[in-house]
Amino acid sequence: MNVNTLFSVLETQSRRAEELALAKKAYAFAENAHRGQKRKSGDPYIVHPLATALQLANLRLDGQTIAAALLHDVCEDTPHTILDVKKQFGDEIAFLVAGVTKLDKLRYRGVERSAESLRKMFLAIAEDIRIVLLKLVDRLHNMETLGFLPPEKQKRIALETLEIYAPLAYRLGIGELKGQLEDLAFPYVHPKEHEWLVSTLKGHFSDRHAYIERIKPLIAEEFIRERIPFLDIHARAKHHYSLYKKLLKYDMDITKVFDLVALRIVFNDAEQCYSALGVIHNLWKPVPFLIKDYIALPKPNGYRSLHTTVFGPEGRMVEFQFRTKEMHQEAENGIAAHWAYSEQKGTQVYAKRLPSFAPKRELIWIQQLREWQKNFQKPSEFLDALKIDFFKNRIFVLTPKGDAIDLPEGATPIDFAYSIHTDVGNTATGAKVNGKMVPIDYALKNGEIVEILIQKNRKPSADWLQFVKSGEAKRKISSFLKKKQEDARLQHGKGEMVELRLAVKDRIGLLRDVSQVFTRQKINMKNVITTDASQSWASLIIQALFKNRTDLEKIMVRLKKVNGIEQVSYKLLS
Ligand code: MN
Repeated sequence: MNVNTLFSVLETQSRRAEELALAKKAYAFAENAHRGQKRKSGDPYIVHPLATALQLANLRLDGQTIAAALLHDVCEDTPHTILDVKKQFGDEIAFLVAGVTKLDKLRYRGVERSAESLRKMFLAIAEDIRIVLLKLVDRLHNMETLGFLPPEKQKRIALETLEIYAPLAYRLGIGELKGQLEDLAFPYVHPKEHEWLVSTLKGHFSDRHAYIERIKPLIAEEFIRERIPFLDIHARAKHHYSLYKKLLKYDMDITKVFDLVALRIVFNDAEQCYSALGVIHNLWKPVPFLIKDYIALPKPNGYRSLHTTVFGPEGRMVEFQFRTKEMHQEAENGIAAHWAYSEQKGTQVYAKRLPSFAPKRELIWIQQLREWQKNFQKPSEFLDALKIDFFKNRIFVLTPKGDAIDLPEGATPIDFAYSIHTDVGNTATGAKVNGKMVPIDYALKNGEIVEILIQKNRKPSADWLQFVKSGEAKRKISSFLKKKQEDARLQHGKGEMVELRLAVKDRIGLLRDVSQVFTRQKINMKNVITTDASQSWASLIIQALFKNRTDLEKIMVRLKKVNGIEQVSYKLLS
């Protein structure tokens, strides 16, 4: 990997002269800034930003993004600041670089609950889809050189790649990148399973591949005879990790997976895809239930193709995938395919293609992402369309450990505290945001790191109900305040009349056992009401005088242990 690779790619893409000049300037700046630094692999550091820029060039991103890729680690790892970048390269590139730097602070530590929040937060903090793509290819190169890091780091980074980065690539429709990220992470996250898969695959894979290569000319001939012009016919091997996930569903039996290697054929239009399906089905019987029309019904992430599995030549099952050139590009490059440069005339024209997507049944943010993708049709709308602002009602903040917490817009440190733990909320006395003290009703913003200060004997205040935004916080504060009121009443000298309501399955001796509980606790039952005893389910209402909560709680616990009592609740009588 050297600088010439990047520039020869840019030149074959007929980029404008300004773009080439910009890339050269950014390269010179980065090369100088990182000079003398080495990667853990021993390579000069500049290899990493270069690899990142090359990937983005292949995805046909604009010159600004390619420059930002070259500069993306300059502010983290060298004495240069974001202001230097701004002075040299202007606001937009500085914005892209700053975005990458912000995202570096996100960490995933394997908390299942926060994975989805973290993915959303990732997008919300990025603010611009180009920054997301930059981070994804940055991660791709880091994964390629992961072997040089210490084992604990390898595991954390690989898990994060599997849980956060690969799903993001998938949702942006960049299938190839998703597959690469997963396959790179696989051996670090599940080493044994990976080893098993590779050894199991050995014979099968080469056998399948040889078979596909054997039948390829046969198929080509058939399409020529039927006058269906095809643009390309190639073998597609399934990625290891997605194969592994599929095997989990099929008792780990590799003979049940028919798309280990599939035949992929690219046509000019969708009609030809359907004609091709007819031709193949006419020749070989399709396997029932394995015909999948993702052209009429695309996958949620926008994937389109026509799949079928047939009992093929030599009596073996084989999967065919038919798609147009456009569908192929979209499947490989996803969201990036929509703004790919038009190669004609050497001018910068963004493709005015509308992606087609399946509606219904998915997370709202994916829908919003999609709406947003539809929006860019004109180059003038292009920059607007890159903004990520579809998390209108949610904000994402971080714990000091880097876990992402998803809160309603306008949420305060108190909302945050209750979403961590009830006790943290109840004993909160103050908060720090990005290391600085803030008022407890401060409105949190995306990406802020929030730390809650607690004091053991502190209690929530009724005023908090005025400003908290989350239902969880409101509920927990109210329940605390109610308890506090009850305590105040229970503690004053004469005691309070409490009504206990028990849902019981009536039996002989139940009432005796209940009254024993009260006797042992030295509490007098003042009143006992039973509902219709002929029913097998009944309630038992007991009124008694309590002087403190401890007695009440003890009675409740003991009652719950009595055979036949299903539920116990209480209220203070006024
Ligand atoms: Mn990097």
